[in-house]
Amino acid sequence: MFQKSKKNTLLNTIFDNDSLLKYYLDLSLDILCIIDLDGKIVYTNQSFHNTTNYESIDVFEKQFTHFVSPKDQSKLVSILSKLKEDKEAVSLISNRFVTKDGNEKWFSWNIVYDKKHDLIFLSARDITLMHDNQEQLRFFSTAFDKAKDAILIAKNIGTLDNPNPSIVYVNQTFIDYSGYQIEDIIGQNPRIMRGKNKNAVTQKKMKQALKNWESIDVEVKNQTKTGEDIWVSLSISPIANDEGVFTHWISIQKDITTRVLKEQQLKMFESIVTNSQESVIITAAEPIDYPKGPKIVYVNDAFCELTGYTKAEAIGNTPGILQGELTSVEAKNNIKKSLENWQPIQQDVLNYKKNGESFWIDLSIVPVADKNGWFTHWISIQRDITERVKLQEALEKDVLKRTKELERSNQKLETFASVASHDLKAPLRMINSYLTLLRKRLFKKLGDVAMNSTYKEEMEYLNFAQQGTKNAYDLVQGILEYSQIKSEEDTWKIIDLNKKVDNITLLLKKDISLAAATINYNNLPKVKGNKTQLQQLFQNLISNALKFRGDNPCEINISCERSKDGYLFSVQDNGIGIKAGDENIIFNLFSRGKTNKKFEGQGIGLSLCKEIVKNHSGNIWVESTVDKGSTFYFTINT
Ligand code: ADP
Repeated sequence: MFQKSKKNTLLNTIFDNDSLLKYYLDLSLDILCIIDLDGKIVYTNQSFHNTTNYESIDVFEKQFTHFVSPKDQSKLVSILSKLKEDKEAVSLISNRFVTKDGNEKWFSWNIVYDKKHDLIFLSARDITLMHDNQEQLRFFSTAFDKAKDAILIAKNIGTLDNPNPSIVYVNQTFIDYSGYQIEDIIGQNPRIMRGKNKNAVTQKKMKQALKNWESIDVEVKNQTKTGEDIWVSLSISPIANDEGVFTHWISIQKDITTRVLKEQQLKMFESIVTNSQESVIITAAEPIDYPKGPKIVYVNDAFCELTGYTKAEAIGNTPGILQGELTSVEAKNNIKKSLENWQPIQQDVLNYKKNGESFWIDLSIVPVADKNGWFTHWISIQRDITERVKLQEALEKDVLKRTKELERSNQKLETFASVASHDLKAPLRMINSYLTLLRKRLFKKLGDVAMNSTYKEEMEYLNFAQQGTKNAYDLVQGILEYSQIKSEEDTWKIIDLNKKVDNITLLLKKDISLAAATINYNNLPKVKGNKTQLQQLFQNLISNALKFRGDNPCEINISCERSKDGYLFSVQDNGIGIKAGDENIIFNLFSRGKTNKKFEGQGIGLSLCKEIVKNHSGNIWVESTVDKGSTFYFTINT
């Protein structure tokens, strides 16, 4: 449409006064606009006005760029200035045009320079819709690609009645979880995802839905490209075109492998618990105000069988229903404490059945926490140990009975030994006294010379008889001492062993000087024990070392070091030593070694030492080499 202005002349020149041409231009569906070389609008057609809502008066002689969105102006300005320079170029450009109501419309411009009139012709199409569609598509495609769920779009390449899907699109999530690349999957039938997995029921369902163009939600076991099983939830919907004809399917897929595996595991656990031979109770986590709470939420069949309560009777109640008169307070307190501290516990408890019958259980209670660490339940497993407890009680009774019997017989034995020894010692002392008297009388009557020459043999018989009596006396004394060794811990005292050994060396002074012995000891500890017994222990070992000395001057070393549980002592000598094989038997009552034929003794000393050490929670043993010496080791762990 022309403006009545000075430019009319120019426009008339352009159109050669051809009003028909102008008329046709106004009829054109394309948007037309003519601008001069300064960029000012000199002509706009009807289509321009219809599309932009501007009237001629709004745009005439205004800068064309003024109507273009500021975002696109610079590009247009550079194109126009290039056109102005070249004066012959043709250019294509899409930009946003600001309409009269302030909206932006996308126009695709064809710009031509008119040499004859030195004007620029711009013709355009409104591509807003197309642009918006493209934009929307870009939008969807980005949204699809960013979607957390996998998306697959398949096109029907079969008929409507006999559809056949072929994949045309998959998003990034699909690629990530399936392992397939775009080129592997486009053009394939979605059943490729199934891999080697078969599930006739779901397959049939899906086929049916596909055929009927119906939506379907299913859970299927698929396989990744590398053959790994994955559980997927599929939501498939058909898509129709503008005419309402179904052309595609869209399938939204969710990897639910973790959930399915968890469910399977849960099912497995549930079946284990349900079928367990052991009674299982699950309670709420709180209130732990025992014995009122927590409430039972589940019991298995074994529980019902063991207790006689039905599930309905147990659920909603508390495990307190199982306790009764003789359930120990200590056990109840232990359980309470562990519940308060959310700690697992194992405890033997006496429980009661519904019918009042008592039974013993080995109870294990553990707290169960959710993934955030909050305790939600307690699981308690009860193993019926009534038989075991009964057996144990019977065993304990038996042991008690036997111990009493043993104590009685030990006491009898002790009394016997001490009475027998006492009673034997008197006649032995008497025999010895009479033999001494007899010897004295004979000496008096016959004189020294006759006794040592004429009656030498008779004198020897007398010596043998007296020696025998002495041996018998020592033996009886030894038995008496052995029978009197008792633990008597309550009489124990702290004993300074350095002082004890000082004492012993005084007692054995005669033997020590006879053996020309040196006894080395210092830093012996103070230990808790029985005074007499410890004296006897050291005295026996030192006497033996003196007795079983060799030809060299006798040297005895007594030392001590701390051990794991107490003290380790050693009494070392340089005597005749002990034959290999005798090391253990010499600690037995009346046992003597093979190397000592010429030495007197009853074989009681070391067995006394063994009993004393045992009383002080220790051990005794010997290491020895014949002709080199022996070391007796013993521990005291008091
Ligand atoms: P006895 O000394 O009366 O024989 P013991 O029970 O004290 O009885 O000793 C048992 C045996 O152990 C001794 O007969 C001897 O053979 C051996 N024995 C004990 N102490 C030593 C020692 N220090 N050196 C060599 N042999 C020893």
